[in-house]
Amino acid sequence: MSIILDKINYSYNNGTAYEKQALRDINLVINDGEFIGLIGHTGSGKSTLIQHLNGLIKASSGNIYYNGADIYDKDYKMKDLRSKVGLVFQYPEHQLFETTVFKDICFGPKNLKLDPLEVDLRAYEAMKLVGLGEDMLDVSPFELSGGQKRRVAIAGVLAMKPDILILDEPTAGLDPRGRDEILDQIEKLHRETKITVILVSHSMEDVAKYVDRIIVMNKGEVFFDDEKRKVFANYKQLEEIGLAAPQVTYVMNELKKHGASVDTKAITVHEA
Ligand code: ADP
Repeated sequence: MSIILDKINYSYNNGTAYEKQALRDINLVINDGEFIGLIGHTGSGKSTLIQHLNGLIKASSGNIYYNGADIYDKDYKMKDLRSKVGLVFQYPEHQLFETTVFKDICFGPKNLKLDPLEVDLRAYEAMKLVGLGEDMLDVSPFELSGGQKRRVAIAGVLAMKPDILILDEPTAGLDPRGRDEILDQIEKLHRETKITVILVSHSMEDVAKYVDRIIVMNKGEVFFDDEKRKVFANYKQLEEIGLAAPQVTYVMNELKKHGASVDTKAITVHEA
């Protein structure tokens, strides 16, 4: 299973005075089972990009292939793509609305017109995957903490049994403890299920510990796309686009862990 993006361009308000090109010539391959960090400043195009991956936004030009099929083909069933590429939006708890946690998680699969038993099974399984105990089943989602609400929202997407889980800034607005808990849970989920995960963040620090591959976006373009260690080795260029500065210490430690020699005074990095 894979997603291939072939020369994707996208402009908001195309053909008007407010036209804004948000993506430029994006070429990417997302492979089965990867754990990817999609990093970039606010406005670099991350949200626009991930909405292309499940067909919510249609490219102005270029092609997207999901498991070899052209998603812009007139016969392509976009609905299938939406259930296979699960998108957890920023502040997903704003979309919780049912009276109990369990009902909320069931909402998506119910709409797939599955057998009711299958809906329940999926919801139980999804709750387990995000670390929500059975004591939460009948609780109102509005009584939960920020981090727990977010788990409910993620479980709702997982209950759709997607092949790919994309989380847009899953730690936004959480305190450091909530942030670590949710990221640890996502890491565990990836490890146990091998589901492809794309973690979107404006903070290198947030995702660096967890992902294997990092895609750096800058001004609508892919600036770097490589395994984590190699992206960190380009840390001067990252700093130039304002990404690495607050994370210098962490990046240095990571590099050292991977055997690189680091001259902190000159702030130059020599890859091992
Ligand atoms: P990110 O997720 O990295 O913050 P976005 O994909 O939201 O970036 O934005 C990319 C660019 O597109 C930015 O310049 C942003 O201002 C612009 N943009 C995003 N959404 C819209 C919209 N609905 N209408 C017009 N421009 C938009």
